[in-house]
Order: sequence, then structure tokens, then C-alpha cells
Amino acid sequence: MRKLLLVKYAPEIFLKGLNKGKFERKLKDNIKNVFNDSKYDFVIDQGRWFIECCDLEDGIKRLKRVCGVSEICVVDEIDSNMESIKKQALKSVFENEGKTFKIVTKRADKSFPETSMDVSREVGAYILQNTEKLTVDVKKPDFFVNIEIREKTYVYSKRIKGIGGMPYGTNGSTMLMLSGGIDSPVAGYMMARRGVQLNCVYFHSHPYTSERAKEKVKELAGILKKYTGSINLYVAPFTKIQMGIIENCREDELTIIMRRFMMRIACNLASKYNIDSVTTGESIGQVASQTMEGLIVSNDAADRPVFRPLIAMDKVDIMDVARQIGTYETSILPYEDCCTIFVPKHPKIKPKVEEIRKAESVLDIDGLVKEAVENTEFFN
Ligand code: ATP
Ligand code: MG
Repeated sequence: MRKLLLVKYAPEIFLKGLNKGKFERKLKDNIKNVFNDSKYDFVIDQGRWFIECCDLEDGIKRLKRVCGVSEICVVDEIDSNMESIKKQALKSVFENEGKTFKIVTKRADKSFPETSMDVSREVGAYILQNTEKLTVDVKKPDFFVNIEIREKTYVYSKRIKGIGGMPYGTNGSTMLMLSGGIDSPVAGYMMARRGVQLNCVYFHSHPYTSERAKEKVKELAGILKKYTGSINLYVAPFTKIQMGIIENCREDELTIIMRRFMMRIACNLASKYNIDSVTTGESIGQVASQTMEGLIVSNDAADRPVFRPLIAMDKVDIMDVARQIGTYETSILPYEDCCTIFVPKHPKIKPKVEEIRKAESVLDIDGLVKEAVENTEFFN
């Protein structure tokens, strides 16, 4: 008998029609990538994907980082005969805590003498005879025992939820504005989880923001990399722009003008490196600069779609995801961000496009953006 991991992918991939093959291939490559430094085997049996590895727990951990994997099941591969099937099914019920179960049998090997229904019935009866507190519930069981009969038979009951979503790299690309805060890493993760290829840009105001703040952002990009395999991080110098705004613009308009510069640089880098869109960690109403009017004025500076996957999420829910993906502990480390250094006492909460365009026109916008893009550092 061998133990294997059965990998199931998001039902959405089944809906892809003619493109299904493309999505499956990408997912397969991504799974192979997370195992590339370990000894493993990728086994395909009639459309079913199995991973054979020495350390199952480690294998599960790896698969839980792959976007598009919806479920991981620990499977026992046994000989195809009723005696072995019954014994193995009985063993597998002890992996569950529920009180009601259902047997689901699939018979791919039609030469097996009994029908699926017969197998389910016989195995169910055997489990009832050999346990005390379990009952069958075919409508809403606490757990399933799955039996798949092929040349060999696969029995499984333990299911582990994967992160779901779509295979990474199947849905275009985005430039994530990655600050050191809680929100933007979560926004990046959510895009990656839907298959969007991630690149990050961080605006660094040396010496007002320390080297340590930059290291923190690199660390966050490193955590996101667990889900993406690789990640490009661009660090754009922002001090000159920030000082220019502070010296030439009204205090209550500092934040919104600064945001527009960030947006322009992000778009410029996106254009330079062939990246389709921009993503931010903004959430409507969260702070003064994230009002509807504020977001509209920021968008006005963009030349491509700007995505805000957290737009309708509450902070507590964003924090939950941050904990779950492992960025929270790093995000809360107390290093300053360029937005937290020069915060106006009363930022404008209802800025208007025309008004802000006029206010910023005293600056050499194109020159400043060009210089920042030219001096951007690259890490991966
Ligand atoms: P976060 O937790 O992501 O920092 P926040 O709630 O602190 O978000 P803001 O500081 O207003 O909100 O920033 C809003 C968004 O602008 C961020 O989510 C991020 O996408 C982007 N952003 C802000 N500061 C920077 C920066 N220094 N570098 C890159 N992006 C930034
Ligand atoms: Mg922030």
C-alpha cells in the first residue's frame, strides 16, 4: 500500500472549455515548481493528479501555497478487491470526528465485478458492524469516504482545503503598490490567487524612511513569493517628489498629490516592463485619503486599469487574511512609511480632479516622474 496526495483543482477550471488544457498545464507546472527542491513523483491516472512524496505533511504544506488547488486529499492506494477496500475504508473513518458518513464509490474499471452502488452498500454495512457511534446519512453527512476503483483502488476521507483561485500566471499581470502596511500585501495575495502575475513597487523616501523600512517591504515581497514562485520588486526613490510637494503645495492636498505621483510612477514602470494593470491596498472609507472622491482623483493620474481588491472589505477581515497568509507579523513591525511621515493634520476628503490638477501643475510632473523611474532599483 502507498499513501499519495490527491490534488483537486478549482471547479472554475472545468468551465474553461477549450482553454481548460492551458489552465491545467500551468497548474501542473506550478505544482512541480513548489516541489522542485524535494524528492517527489507526479502521477496522473485517468485525469486524477497524485503526488507521491516521502513526507506527506510537508507535501500538504507545499500544495497549500499553490493558487488553483482547491483540495488536497490523503489517499491510500490498495489492491482492487473487496476485502482490502472494506478494511481500508474502516481505517479511514477514524481520521474523522463526525458521527455520520456516506460512502461514495466511483468505478472507473468496469471489469470490477460489483457495481458502485453494491460497493458502497457493502462497505457501509461493514463500517456500521465494526464501529459503535457512526450512522449513515446520505443527504448531509459529516464526512465522506471516497472509493475510486481503477487498476488499483484509492480510498480517502481526509480532505484539506487548498487556497483555491486560479493557477498563478494565467490572468495577465499587475504592478502592486506595496507599502510596509497590512493592506497592500493582502491585496497582492488576492490578485495572485486569481492567477494574476505580481510585480511590486515600493516608494522609498530616503533618509526620511529608513533602510529598515525598505528591508521590511523586501521581506513582505518574500512572503508573497511563497505563493507566486518569483516576484519582481521595484524600489522607486520618492524623496525629491515628496519634498517638492511639501514646499510647493497646500498642506491639505499633500496626500492626494503624493498618491497621484505614486500612481504615475507605477503606471510608467508598468508600461516600461509590459505590465497590464496597477493594484493598491485601498479600501473605501478606511482613511481620509480613501474616500470615493480621493480614489477618483488618484485614478485620474493612471493610464491603465487600477484594481483595489480590498475595496469593500473591513479592516478586521483584511487583518484575518494577513494572518492566514503570514504577512501580518511583518506588517505590524513599527517602521515608518513615507505616507506616515508627512501626514497633513486635515487632509482634503473631497478633492476635485480639476482643483488638484491645477495645484500640482506648479511642479515639473513629467521630469520628476521620469527621474524617479530612471533611478528605480530592482530586486527579485
Ligand atoms: P497599507 O496597509 O497597504 O500601507 P494603508 O491603509 O496604510 O495601506 P495608505 O498608507 O493610505 O493606506 O496607502 C494606500 C495604498 O497606497 C496602499 O495600500 C498601497 O497600495 C499604496 N502605498 C502607500 N504607500 C506606499 C509606498 N510607500 N509604497 C508603495 N505603495 C504605497
Ligand atoms: Mg500604509
